[in-house]
Amino acid sequence: MVLERNKDISRFSAFKTPATTEYFFELSVRTEFDELVTVLAKIRELKLPIVYIASGTNCLFAFDHFPGIIVHIAMRDAYFTQENKILYLHAESGVLMWPVVSESIKTYGVPTLLPWVGLPGTVGGAVVGNAWCFWLETSAIVQSVEVLDTVTGEVAILKNNEMKYEYRSSILKWQDRHLVVATTFNLQYLQVDNPFTKMTIAEMQATRRTKQPPGLSCGSYFTNPSGTSAGKLIDQVGLKGTSVGGMQISPHHANFFVSSPGATWQDVLKLAELAKTKVRETFQIELHEEVRIIK
Ligand SMILES: Cc1cc2nc3c(=O)[nH]c(=O)nc-3n(C[C@H](O)[C@H](O)[C@H](O)COP(=O)(O)OP(=O)(O)OC[C@H]3O[C@@H](n4cnc5c(N)ncnc54)[C@H](O)[C@@H]3O)c2cc1C
Repeated sequence: MVLERNKDISRFSAFKTPATTEYFFELSVRTEFDELVTVLAKIRELKLPIVYIASGTNCLFAFDHFPGIIVHIAMRDAYFTQENKILYLHAESGVLMWPVVSESIKTYGVPTLLPWVGLPGTVGGAVVGNAWCFWLETSAIVQSVEVLDTVTGEVAILKNNEMKYEYRSSILKWQDRHLVVATTFNLQYLQVDNPFTKMTIAEMQATRRTKQPPGLSCGSYFTNPSGTSAGKLIDQVGLKGTSVGGMQISPHHANFFVSSPGATWQDVLKLAELAKTKVRETFQIELHEEVRIIK
């Protein structure tokens, strides 16, 4: 039985703020699909909310107790194939990015995933949120996505263009019906001509460390408004280093909110509101969350 009740889920969000959920389902293998579909049918009858999460590195739990179900995607099978000299990665959605990134470079000598060295989170999270690092956006290498329709129990394959990729988003990001089962990546993606492409893994790790602040965060909190960056705007309104409760706008990078022990989801929302208000008043620009706020 994989359905649990009254589960502490604080560890499933990168902010690590306290949270519990009424129902929790850990999806580890495909043979659990039928059970999941049955459980979700009951949850829908009760008109309770359904949310899928993976590593939670892009999610804020904005509640003390979630009234519905959190489905944790933990299917972790992955393998590589080669056809006509092209390397393909086939990975289930709960596979962590880092080990497969490392294997594609070290074992197969293919540098396509190099910019993703140090990208936290899973394959499913990157595919749904169209993660982007340095010069590589997920949509550039997704060949096809296997999805489970949790209403009918059917599994289907979506082609890249059916994912309707946009900046940090896809057709699957703001819905609760389809979940990503697995993805096939085509790693032949042609490298753009830039000096980073010759970097080693260690150099890439060091580059990421210089650009991203330490501590517990969900990466960039806001998406970048067109033509500028959210971090620059928040910095220019003087909020770098500002704290609310246990949450701080990083003194190193103003679009990173860093959590310390005792931080609450209310602290995150208050800090975000402060940044949004100041930026709106000063620049007449509206900031929008990249982090998914789950309520
Ligand atoms: C220190 C740090 C650095 C970061 N740097 C970057 C960066 O350089 N570039 C970048 O793009 N992001 C970055 N991020 C954000 C985050 O790591 C990525 O967005 C990551 O891809 C999210 O993966 P996840 O498994 O944690 O997804 P989660 O946070 O668990 O979920 C994110 C979204 O995807 C949905 N989802 C997840 N899995 C599935 C599934 N199988 N089926 C359906 N829906 C699903 C969730 O419902 C949610 O809407 C960073 C985060 C941190 C903490």
